[in-house]
Amino acid sequence: MLSRSKSEALFAAALEHTPGGVNSPVRAFRAVGGNPFFVESAAGARLRTVDGDELLDYVGTWGPAILGHAHPKSIQAVKDAADRGTSFGVPNPAEVALAFRVKEFVPSVQKVRFCNSGTEACMSAIRLARGFTRRDKLVKFDGCYHGHADSLLVKAGSGALTLGNPDSAGVPADFAKHTLVLPFNDPEALKAIFASHGQELAAVIVEGVPANAGLYLPRPGFYELIARLCREHGALFILDEVMTGFRLAKGGAQERFGLTPDLSTFGKIIGGGLPVGAFGGRADVMDYLAPLGPVYQAGTLSGNPLAMAAGLAALDELAGSNGYARLETLGEQLEAGMVAAAKSVGVAVQWKRIGSMFCGYFTDRPVWNLADALHSDRGRFAKFFHGMLAAGIYLAPSQFEAGFISTAHTPADIETTVATAAKVLRGL
Ligand SMILES: *Cc1c(COP(=O)(O)O)cnc(C)c1O
Repeated sequence: MLSRSKSEALFAAALEHTPGGVNSPVRAFRAVGGNPFFVESAAGARLRTVDGDELLDYVGTWGPAILGHAHPKSIQAVKDAADRGTSFGVPNPAEVALAFRVKEFVPSVQKVRFCNSGTEACMSAIRLARGFTRRDKLVKFDGCYHGHADSLLVKAGSGALTLGNPDSAGVPADFAKHTLVLPFNDPEALKAIFASHGQELAAVIVEGVPANAGLYLPRPGFYELIARLCREHGALFILDEVMTGFRLAKGGAQERFGLTPDLSTFGKIIGGGLPVGAFGGRADVMDYLAPLGPVYQAGTLSGNPLAMAAGLAALDELAGSNGYARLETLGEQLEAGMVAAAKSVGVAVQWKRIGSMFCGYFTDRPVWNLADALHSDRGRFAKFFHGMLAAGIYLAPSQFEAGFISTAHTPADIETTVATAAKVLRGL
């Protein structure tokens, strides 16, 4: 069992100062019950709580920590950059270096612009698509999360879904009406919307793999259909790789699936643990951005030298260390172990995985979209979550979030995780 006294005291104080005691709602334990713990430090695959407990971490700061926490090369890069100053407000060399690296990793990106979060990246990419096409309407898929910009908080995933408000208050109906939401993996619905609204569509945006309602995968041909219909109707295909970028491969989901989106959005890993977002793609589209073009987008701290240094260090380490092969092997090991564990205790689990991303749904139905995901037994998940946490293993505190393996995880860590899961499942 974990000790909790310092965490509980901090949380009680936080509740007085901050809504719900958290600065991002996904950190609240609402979906599983109880209060979040506070972390003092983290290294490798482990978090150290303020109460001195060590937790094996499968959240990885919600995706960025693909090298584990406090990777020595990232920390050194940030320290070196800090010695030179934390922000200049004029261009710095690391912006050019990271842009070059992103283009090298993701060939569909001919030009890129850095911002400060995945939310900004998606919001800006959509504004750009609207400005470029001179059209207003946007297609997204239910359960996909693209950050918390107004026109994207419509049937959204992640915390919005977990907390039961996928359509946020405060979003004017006049904005939301330009966002058309379709079920994922439904080619007929997609064809129908292009048939009825094809000439009004600025863009279709979709996650590299939908991973904000748990995790499910595109059926073969679905993304190719999106790309083809966009091309035929003059709409832009935006692949949101904020989570999948630099995680599923050097070139993200688009490399894995052989896609060439018009625009891609990035965040999480690209900042190496510091706040960074980016969007990029076709040069003719990107050149519609200010100062060259009519679409405005800006940021006081964009291209921040500390954040650029952290991102560069992370991408270089990933590329140089055979990281992706290691992540795939660990992912296979976890999958095989979890599937066997669930089977041995007779608990119905739909295990979904791609590379180092995973999710187990407590349902006997296959999961291909949000409606399927909603069949999972969330009460059972909550019990599983708390059982794992009590044994020192931290999963995301929601059925509707993906788990992440880092290169700092070891085969022994995975083995412990599987053995613990078998025990916890038996007790459900
Ligand atoms: C996390 C996420 C975002 C939002 O990024 P923030 O940095 O949290 O603003 C957007 N899209 C996807 C697919 C994400 O997973």
